[in-house]
Parts: sequence; C-alpha cells; structure tokens
Amino acid sequence: MISAKARIEKNLHRIRENVGIACKHAGRSPDGVTIVAVTKSAGMNEIKAVVDLGVTDLGESRPQQLFDRSVELGQFLARQGNKAPSVRWHMVGHLQRNKVKQVIEAAGIIHSVDSLRLAEEINLRAERAGKVADVLLQVNCSGEVQKHGVGVGAAVHMAELVSSLKNVKLVGLMTMAPLVQDPENARPAFIRLREVFEEIRFEKIGGAGFRHLSMGMSQDYMIAVEEGATLLRIGSALFE
Ligand SMILES: *Cc1c(COP(=O)(O)O)cnc(C)c1O
Repeated sequence: MISAKARIEKNLHRIRENVGIACKHAGRSPDGVTIVAVTKSAGMNEIKAVVDLGVTDLGESRPQQLFDRSVELGQFLARQGNKAPSVRWHMVGHLQRNKVKQVIEAAGIIHSVDSLRLAEEINLRAERAGKVADVLLQVNCSGEVQKHGVGVGAAVHMAELVSSLKNVKLVGLMTMAPLVQDPENARPAFIRLREVFEEIRFEKIGGAGFRHLSMGMSQDYMIAVEEGATLLRIGSALFE
C-alpha cells in the first residue's frame, strides 16, 4: 500500500501538469493560478502532507471545521519554528451570519459572500478584530434555484455595495458550476462569471485588489483555468 503522502504527491503532480496544459491552451502563466486544497474529507495527516508538499492555501466548507483545523495545524506548524510555511485558510462553503465571528478569526479569505447582510456582519466583526477581511462575492451563474449566490443580474450592484464597506475588501468573485457529467458543460457558468468580473472591473469597483476568479473543482478545473480562474478549489482529485 502506498502512503497517503505518496498518493497526494502523485495527485498533485497530475493536477499541476493539467493546470500547465490548460494554461498553455489559454496563453496564461501558471503563476496566476493557485490551488486551494479543500480538506473537508481529508484527515489531519493528509492536511499536514499536502502542506509539506508546498500547498499552503487550504479550504474548508464548514465554519467549525475550518476553525478547529486551523488551530490544530497552526499549533503543529508553530512547533516547527520559523522554518514552517505560513498557510492561508479559505472559507469556501455557505456562511451564516452567526458563524462570522469564528470564521473571521481563522480564514484569510471568505469565498461565499452572497448577501449584503452577510457582508455587513463580516464588516462589523472585522472592525472589532481590527482587520480588513478579504472576500469574494458568490454569484449563481447556473440559475439553479438550490444554489447559493447572488444572481448574475444583481452582481454588479451588490459588488458596489460590498466594496463600499470599510473593513471588507472585495477581491473577486466565486461560483459553483452545475454538477454535470461532461465538464465541458460547466464552461458557460465560468464564462458568465468572467463576464460579470469584467463588468465590475470596467465600473472600477474594488480597484486593483479586485483580481480573483474562484471557480473550478476536481471535475472541471481545466475548463475553469481556460476561462480565467485564479483560485481552484480542489478536494477529491487531490486526496482520493
Ligand atoms: C467540497 C468543495 C469543493 C471541492 O470539491 P471537489 O469536487 O472534491 O474538488 C470546492 N468548493 C466547495 C464550495 C466545496 O464545498
């Protein structure tokens, strides 16, 4: 049986190769693409392994798990002293307002802002913590009613409102593609997100800090890279 670390290393190698291929297709530099390892189904040892392999952006979809794991990993890395890499946690799942305080403490970036009330709560908690919180606006590009995110038609106005908050920094957009058999069918959602992104840029909302497109998961990350993704949220392709 191969070790968890060897398995993850092999997966990571393949993902980086695929990202390279997709970047070549799109005429992009791989330096503009960050792999966020979504650890929701990984164990602590697998998380340590992926960090050791150089992946320092980690994502969780539940606030409590994000908090617990960031604390545990933080303590582990602190014991390694100043050689330890610094990691950044991403809150990628749906966020309720009563969990914001906990998430603000642990997350470097919140991908799932989907209402003004949530953004205002983040603003308030960030102000109390003496921070500015980096956030992405989640956009529902597929129109599926069960999906979170603001509608495409409301996104530009919402981006304007969110970016006016003092202790929130709007750094980009996020979308969840529809679950489809053929990853090619995710492409229209990614194109739509990029179009919304370009419109917000054109309106000069968010300034130079507005630069991220969080899109693409294990099934469809190559398509997402071709359409301009800067943050890939990858779980199963990395850990299984
Ligand atoms: C679980 C999850 C992912 C990763 O999904 P995989 O298909 O395992 O790569 C990405 N984004 C969000 C919001 C998730 O909840």
